[in-house]
Amino acid sequence: MNDATSPDSLSPDTLALHRALVTLDTHIDIPWPTGPDAFQDGTRRVDLPKMVRGGLSAGCFVAYVPQTARTPATEDGAFARAVAMLEHINAMGRTEAGITARVTQTADEIEAAKADGVLAIVPCVENGFAVGADLSRIARFRALGARYLTLTHNGHNALADSCNPRRDLGDRDTEHGGLSALGVAAVKELNRVGMLVDVAHVSRDTMLQASEASSTPIVSTHSCISALCDHPRNMMDWQLDVIRKVKGVIQITAVASFLKPGAKPAEVTVADFADHVDYAVKRIGIEHVGISSDFDGGGGFTGWHNAGESANVTAELVRRGYDRAAIQLLWGGNFLRVMRVVEQMAA
Ligand SMILES: [Zn+2]
Repeated sequence: MNDATSPDSLSPDTLALHRALVTLDTHIDIPWPTGPDAFQDGTRRVDLPKMVRGGLSAGCFVAYVPQTARTPATEDGAFARAVAMLEHINAMGRTEAGITARVTQTADEIEAAKADGVLAIVPCVENGFAVGADLSRIARFRALGARYLTLTHNGHNALADSCNPRRDLGDRDTEHGGLSALGVAAVKELNRVGMLVDVAHVSRDTMLQASEASSTPIVSTHSCISALCDHPRNMMDWQLDVIRKVKGVIQITAVASFLKPGAKPAEVTVADFADHVDYAVKRIGIEHVGISSDFDGGGGFTGWHNAGESANVTAELVRRGYDRAAIQLLWGGNFLRVMRVVEQMAA
């Protein structure tokens, strides 16, 4: 912790500002099926002691399901895995080793957790493969606290085309031409139960069609900017404009290869990350941009290796002239706004 970017080297004013904010990281993976305990400061990029140390008040923890060949049996297996992971994420809501974490399902609850000085855990699901062809599973996810569903991962599924077709699974460039009919129905079911529609990982056609099918603003919980780094996972300018039009949000993410073409984590800094934030803010406005790490799922670079270094992001935003209100919007305020819209629109 002696390098120049450690939180210890930040000014007291910046640290005080950072610690006063509701800081929501909208995409964090968990080790599965086994891994280090979340209550111990260990090898994970995000564990609860690192959240406390790094002034990260809330995190979306995802039940991630890898894409495999699609059969009724593998879809059932994917659902079972997602349920088991959501139960595991829910079990993080306890007090242990001097840390209290609380499972939170609404924007109000995330803010209340901050006010109470406890960590907020938001369960989510990554990959609509876990839905299979059974849309009733979406309500099961919601009942387990899940607040967003990432429609695809790498590889097309029954709901939608991915931005990264899986040739090894026989994927062509496109299977559905975007959202399938089932995918449109899934979006409407997400709207009904009060889950956000996450378009990280989907194809550009899927993203556009999801923005039209959804009665609530869509989000990308972890993507970056194509104009700065041409990558299938990043958003082109017209997609950013769609995000603004539907009042959604793009959560810029800490994956090195999305931030600089072909870069390794050691070659990327917080300044590179902030360049993507700046670009999105200039293009579509401060209300439509946010922050995510994708820690333990590929995220991390020099200066933001883990949740314990989260204040470095705030420090870079301060250096670039963002004021407290703007930084709060980036660090979760915008995402909470979308969560509230989705909560109000739920049936
Ligand atoms: Zn992902």
